[in-house]
Amino acid sequence: MDHTAHSPRTGTTVGLVIAVDGTSGSGKSSTSRGVATRLGLRYLDTGAMFRAMTWWLLREGVDVHDAVAVARRCGEPDILSGTDPQAPTITVDGVDVAVEIRGDAVNAAVSPVSAVPEVRRRLLELQRVVIEQETRTGGIVVEGRDIGSVVAPDAPVKVYLSADPEARAVRRAAEQGVSDLAATQESLLARDRIDSGRATAPLVMADGAVHIDTTPYSLEEVIALVVDLVADAEARA
Ligand code: C5P
Repeated sequence: MDHTAHSPRTGTTVGLVIAVDGTSGSGKSSTSRGVATRLGLRYLDTGAMFRAMTWWLLREGVDVHDAVAVARRCGEPDILSGTDPQAPTITVDGVDVAVEIRGDAVNAAVSPVSAVPEVRRRLLELQRVVIEQETRTGGIVVEGRDIGSVVAPDAPVKVYLSADPEARAVRRAAEQGVSDLAATQESLLARDRIDSGRATAPLVMADGAVHIDTTPYSLEEVIALVVDLVADAEARA
Protein backbone atom coordinates (compact mmCIF):
# COMPACT_ATOMS: atom_id res chain seq x y z
CA MET A 1 0.00 0.00 0.00
CA ASP A 2 1.29 3.48 -0.88
CA HIS A 3 1.48 5.81 2.10
CA THR A 4 3.36 8.59 0.37
CA ALA A 5 0.61 10.50 -1.43
CA HIS A 6 -1.52 12.97 0.50
CA SER A 7 -5.22 13.42 0.12
CA PRO A 8 -6.36 16.71 -1.38
CA ARG A 9 -9.59 16.34 0.66
CA THR A 10 -8.21 15.75 4.14
CA GLY A 11 -4.47 16.29 4.06
CA THR A 12 -4.16 12.85 5.61
CA THR A 13 -2.08 10.14 4.04
CA VAL A 14 -4.00 8.40 1.26
CA GLY A 15 -4.38 4.69 1.86
CA LEU A 16 -4.02 4.90 5.63
CA VAL A 17 -5.89 2.18 7.55
CA ILE A 18 -6.06 2.27 11.33
CA ALA A 19 -7.17 -1.07 12.80
CA VAL A 20 -8.87 -0.93 16.21
CA ASP A 21 -9.70 -4.26 17.85
CA GLY A 22 -10.59 -5.22 21.38
CA THR A 23 -13.08 -6.68 23.80
CA SER A 24 -16.73 -5.66 24.04
CA GLY A 25 -17.15 -2.33 25.80
CA SER A 26 -13.45 -1.45 25.82
CA GLY A 27 -14.14 1.92 24.19
CA LYS A 28 -13.46 0.91 20.57
CA SER A 29 -16.34 2.84 19.00
CA SER A 30 -15.89 6.12 20.87
CA THR A 31 -12.13 5.99 20.38
CA SER A 32 -12.34 5.09 16.68
CA ARG A 33 -14.89 7.80 15.93
CA GLY A 34 -12.87 10.36 17.89
CA VAL A 35 -9.64 9.48 16.10
CA ALA A 36 -11.33 9.54 12.69
CA THR A 37 -12.92 12.92 13.43
CA ARG A 38 -9.65 14.41 14.70
CA LEU A 39 -7.70 13.21 11.65
CA GLY A 40 -10.34 13.75 8.96
CA LEU A 41 -10.68 10.03 8.23
CA ARG A 42 -13.67 7.82 7.47
CA TYR A 43 -14.91 5.22 9.97
CA LEU A 44 -16.18 1.65 9.61
CA ASP A 45 -17.93 -0.14 12.49
CA THR A 46 -17.70 -3.81 11.50
CA GLY A 47 -19.54 -4.84 14.67
CA ALA A 48 -22.59 -3.00 13.34
CA MET A 49 -22.42 -5.18 10.20
CA PHE A 50 -22.44 -8.40 12.26
CA ARG A 51 -25.28 -6.94 14.33
CA ALA A 52 -27.23 -6.02 11.18
CA MET A 53 -26.82 -9.56 9.82
CA THR A 54 -28.02 -10.94 13.17
CA TRP A 55 -31.03 -8.59 13.24
CA TRP A 56 -32.04 -9.74 9.76
CA LEU A 57 -31.67 -13.45 10.60
CA LEU A 58 -33.80 -13.00 13.74
CA ARG A 59 -36.46 -11.13 11.77
CA GLU A 60 -36.50 -13.91 9.19
CA GLY A 61 -37.03 -16.46 11.97
CA VAL A 62 -33.73 -18.25 11.30
CA ASP A 63 -32.44 -20.27 14.29
CA VAL A 64 -29.22 -18.37 15.05
CA HIS A 65 -27.76 -21.41 16.80
CA ASP A 66 -28.14 -23.53 13.66
CA ALA A 67 -24.89 -22.78 11.79
CA VAL A 68 -26.09 -24.57 8.65
CA ALA A 69 -29.27 -22.49 8.46
CA VAL A 70 -27.33 -19.28 9.15
CA ALA A 71 -24.79 -20.15 6.45
CA ARG A 72 -27.56 -20.87 3.95
CA ARG A 73 -29.26 -17.49 4.39
CA CYS A 74 -26.39 -15.09 5.14
CA GLY A 75 -25.85 -14.13 1.49
CA GLU A 76 -29.30 -12.56 1.21
CA PRO A 77 -29.44 -9.25 3.13
CA ASP A 78 -28.04 -6.12 1.56
CA ILE A 79 -26.01 -4.51 4.37
CA LEU A 80 -24.75 -0.98 3.84
CA SER A 81 -22.50 1.04 6.18
CA GLY A 82 -22.18 4.83 6.06
CA THR A 83 -18.67 5.90 7.04
CA ASP A 84 -19.03 9.45 8.40
CA PRO A 85 -17.47 9.18 11.90
CA GLN A 86 -19.86 11.83 13.23
CA ALA A 87 -22.97 10.16 11.83
CA PRO A 88 -22.29 6.52 10.93
CA THR A 89 -25.27 4.69 9.45
CA ILE A 90 -26.26 1.07 8.96
CA THR A 91 -29.08 -0.20 6.77
CA VAL A 92 -30.40 -3.62 5.81
CA ASP A 93 -32.23 -3.75 2.48
CA GLY A 94 -32.56 0.01 2.72
CA VAL A 95 -34.04 0.00 6.26
CA ASP A 96 -32.24 1.99 8.98
CA VAL A 97 -31.53 -0.51 11.80
CA ALA A 98 -29.19 1.61 13.92
CA VAL A 99 -31.43 1.39 17.00
CA GLU A 100 -32.66 -2.20 16.64
CA ILE A 101 -29.14 -3.67 16.37
CA ARG A 102 -28.28 -2.46 19.91
CA GLY A 103 -31.19 -4.31 21.56
CA ASP A 104 -31.01 -7.33 23.89
CA ALA A 105 -32.13 -9.84 21.22
CA VAL A 106 -29.23 -8.93 18.93
CA ASN A 107 -26.78 -8.70 21.85
CA ALA A 108 -27.60 -12.28 22.82
CA ALA A 109 -27.42 -13.70 19.29
CA VAL A 110 -24.60 -11.79 17.59
CA SER A 111 -21.64 -13.82 18.81
CA PRO A 112 -22.98 -17.23 17.71
CA VAL A 113 -23.85 -15.72 14.31
CA SER A 114 -20.39 -14.16 14.03
CA ALA A 115 -18.77 -17.54 14.63
CA VAL A 116 -20.22 -18.94 11.37
CA PRO A 117 -17.45 -18.91 8.71
CA GLU A 118 -19.84 -18.09 5.84
CA VAL A 119 -21.07 -15.00 7.70
CA ARG A 120 -17.51 -13.86 8.23
CA ARG A 121 -16.61 -14.48 4.57
CA ARG A 122 -19.61 -12.50 3.33
CA LEU A 123 -18.98 -9.54 5.64
CA LEU A 124 -15.23 -9.60 4.97
CA GLU A 125 -15.99 -9.02 1.28
CA LEU A 126 -18.23 -6.05 2.12
CA GLN A 127 -15.65 -4.65 4.56
CA ARG A 128 -12.85 -4.87 2.01
CA VAL A 129 -14.97 -3.03 -0.60
CA VAL A 130 -15.59 -0.14 1.82
CA ILE A 131 -11.92 0.01 2.85
CA GLU A 132 -10.80 -0.09 -0.78
CA GLN A 133 -13.22 2.70 -1.75
CA GLU A 134 -12.35 4.99 1.15
CA THR A 135 -8.59 4.56 0.96
CA ARG A 136 -8.53 5.68 -2.66
CA THR A 137 -9.06 9.27 -1.54
CA GLY A 138 -8.14 9.26 2.15
CA GLY A 139 -7.84 7.01 5.17
CA ILE A 140 -10.16 5.03 7.41
CA VAL A 141 -10.41 3.84 10.99
CA VAL A 142 -11.85 0.32 11.10
CA GLU A 143 -13.03 -1.21 14.36
CA GLY A 144 -13.89 -4.80 15.23
CA ARG A 145 -12.40 -8.01 16.54
CA ASP A 146 -10.28 -9.28 13.62
CA ILE A 147 -9.29 -6.10 11.79
CA GLY A 148 -5.55 -6.19 12.50
CA SER A 149 -5.36 -9.97 12.15
CA VAL A 150 -7.63 -10.75 9.15
CA VAL A 151 -9.43 -7.79 7.54
CA ALA A 152 -6.47 -5.40 7.20
CA PRO A 153 -3.33 -7.25 8.35
CA ASP A 154 -1.10 -4.69 6.53
CA ALA A 155 -2.55 -1.72 8.43
CA PRO A 156 0.35 0.50 9.54
CA VAL A 157 -1.41 1.33 12.80
CA LYS A 158 -3.00 -1.43 14.88
CA VAL A 159 -4.47 -0.89 18.31
CA TYR A 160 -5.86 -3.43 20.76
CA LEU A 161 -8.09 -1.91 23.44
CA SER A 162 -9.06 -3.60 26.67
CA ALA A 163 -10.46 -2.49 30.04
CA ASP A 164 -11.40 -4.06 33.35
CA PRO A 165 -14.78 -5.81 33.17
CA GLU A 166 -16.24 -3.54 35.87
CA ALA A 167 -15.20 -0.40 33.99
CA ARG A 168 -16.61 -1.77 30.75
CA ALA A 169 -19.95 -2.61 32.36
CA VAL A 170 -20.23 0.86 33.91
CA ARG A 171 -19.52 2.54 30.55
CA ARG A 172 -21.88 0.32 28.58
CA ALA A 173 -24.70 0.63 31.13
CA ALA A 174 -24.31 4.43 31.09
CA GLU A 175 -24.39 4.49 27.27
CA GLN A 176 -27.56 2.41 27.14
CA GLY A 177 -29.25 3.91 30.19
CA VAL A 178 -29.60 0.57 32.02
CA SER A 179 -29.02 0.10 35.74
CA ASP A 180 -28.31 -3.65 36.06
CA LEU A 181 -24.50 -3.61 36.10
CA ALA A 182 -24.15 -7.31 36.90
CA ALA A 183 -26.28 -8.34 33.92
CA THR A 184 -24.46 -5.89 31.63
CA GLN A 185 -21.08 -7.26 32.73
CA GLU A 186 -22.22 -10.86 32.23
CA SER A 187 -23.49 -10.07 28.73
CA LEU A 188 -20.14 -8.45 27.78
CA LEU A 189 -18.13 -11.35 29.21
CA ALA A 190 -20.33 -13.95 27.50
CA ARG A 191 -19.67 -12.28 24.13
CA ASP A 192 -15.92 -12.09 24.85
CA ARG A 193 -15.83 -15.81 25.63
CA ILE A 194 -17.48 -16.77 22.34
CA ASP A 195 -15.55 -14.17 20.28
CA SER A 196 -12.19 -15.32 21.71
CA GLY A 197 -12.97 -19.03 21.51
CA ARG A 198 -14.34 -19.35 17.97
CA ALA A 199 -12.32 -21.21 15.32
CA THR A 200 -12.58 -18.61 12.53
CA ALA A 201 -10.96 -15.18 13.05
CA PRO A 202 -11.16 -15.16 16.87
CA LEU A 203 -10.55 -12.02 18.88
CA VAL A 204 -6.76 -11.87 19.28
CA MET A 205 -4.16 -9.20 19.66
CA ALA A 206 -2.80 -8.92 16.11
CA ASP A 207 0.91 -9.06 15.33
CA GLY A 208 2.25 -5.54 15.64
CA ALA A 209 -0.72 -4.22 17.62
CA VAL A 210 -0.19 -1.74 20.45
CA HIS A 211 -2.16 -2.75 23.55
CA ILE A 212 -3.87 0.07 25.44
CA ASP A 213 -5.65 -0.79 28.70
CA THR A 214 -8.16 2.06 28.74
CA THR A 215 -9.31 1.54 32.36
CA PRO A 216 -7.40 4.48 33.90
CA TYR A 217 -7.82 6.88 30.97
CA SER A 218 -10.52 9.28 29.83
CA LEU A 219 -11.80 8.96 26.27
CA GLU A 220 -9.89 12.10 25.25
CA GLU A 221 -6.67 10.60 26.61
CA VAL A 222 -7.13 7.35 24.67
CA ILE A 223 -7.88 9.29 21.48
CA ALA A 224 -4.70 11.33 22.01
CA LEU A 225 -2.64 8.15 22.51
CA VAL A 226 -3.91 6.69 19.23
CA VAL A 227 -3.39 9.98 17.35
CA ASP A 228 0.22 9.91 18.59
CA LEU A 229 0.64 6.37 17.26
CA VAL A 230 -0.64 7.52 13.86
CA ALA A 231 1.81 10.44 13.82
CA ASP A 232 4.66 8.03 14.66
CA ALA A 233 3.63 5.65 11.87
CA GLU A 234 3.38 8.49 9.34
CA ALA A 235 6.81 9.78 10.36
CA ARG A 236 8.25 6.31 9.73
CA ALA A 237 6.50 5.88 6.33
O1 C5P B 1 -18.30 -4.26 18.32
P1 C5P B 1 -19.62 -4.84 18.74
O2 C5P B 1 -19.68 -5.12 20.20
O3 C5P B 1 -20.78 -4.06 18.26
O4 C5P B 1 -19.67 -6.23 17.99
C1 C5P B 1 -20.76 -7.11 18.16
C2 C5P B 1 -20.31 -8.52 17.90
O5 C5P B 1 -19.98 -8.67 16.51
C3 C5P B 1 -19.08 -9.00 18.65
O6 C5P B 1 -19.38 -9.45 19.96
C4 C5P B 1 -18.59 -10.13 17.75
O7 C5P B 1 -19.31 -11.31 17.99
C5 C5P B 1 -18.95 -9.64 16.36
N1 C5P B 1 -17.82 -9.06 15.64
C6 C5P B 1 -16.93 -9.90 15.05
N2 C5P B 1 -15.92 -9.41 14.28
C7 C5P B 1 -15.78 -8.10 14.10
C8 C5P B 1 -16.68 -7.20 14.72
C9 C5P B 1 -17.69 -7.72 15.51
O8 C5P B 1 -17.03 -11.11 15.21
N3 C5P B 1 -14.80 -7.64 13.31
